[in-house]
Amino acid sequence: MPSFVINEKCDGCKAQDRTACQYICPNDLMILDKEKNKAYNRAVDMCWECYSCVKICPTQAIEVRGYADFVPLGASVQPMRSTDAIMWAVKFRNQKVKRFKFPIRTTPEGTIEPDAGFITGTRDLKDPHLRTEPESLGTTLYKIK
Ligand code: SF4
Ligand code: SF4
Repeated sequence: MPSFVINEKCDGCKAQDRTACQYICPNDLMILDKEKNKAYNRAVDMCWECYSCVKICPTQAIEVRGYADFVPLGASVQPMRSTDAIMWAVKFRNQKVKRFKFPIRTTPEGTIEPDAGFITGTRDLKDPHLRTEPESLGTTLYKIK
C-alpha cells in the first residue's frame, strides 16, 4: 500500500513553500493542496513505499503499510525521528505496542563533510574511479587500458 496522508494530522507544514514530504520524496510524488492545506500522493502506483515521507513528516500524518517481515497482519507501524535516533512503534492487532529504537547517526546534524577531506577526483569521464577514490580507499590508481 502506498503512502497516504491522514488529513486531520497534516498541517501543510505550516504553509511553507515546499513541505517536508515534497522535499524528501525521491519520486516527486507528494503535492500540497494549497486550498485545503493538505498534502497527498499524486501517483500512488509510482510509490515504492520507501518510508522517507513517513519518517520526515513532523506531525506523523503519513502512513505506509508495514513490511510483513516486521509488521504482521493487522498491525501498523509509525516511525518517529529525533536528531540522533529513530523509534519504530509497532501496534499489533491485539493492541499491544512494541517500540524499537535505533541510532541513525554518530555526528551532530549539519557537521558531515561530504568529501571528508579527500581530493574529489577528476572530471575525466573515462576515469574508472569514484569520487574521492583512490585516496579514500587507501589504494593506488587503477590502470586504464
Ligand atoms: S510533511 Fe506531513 S505535515 Fe507536512 S505537508 Fe507533508 S503530510 Fe502534511
Ligand atoms: S513512500 Fe517514498 S516514494 Fe512513496 S510517497 Fe513517500 S517518499 Fe515518495
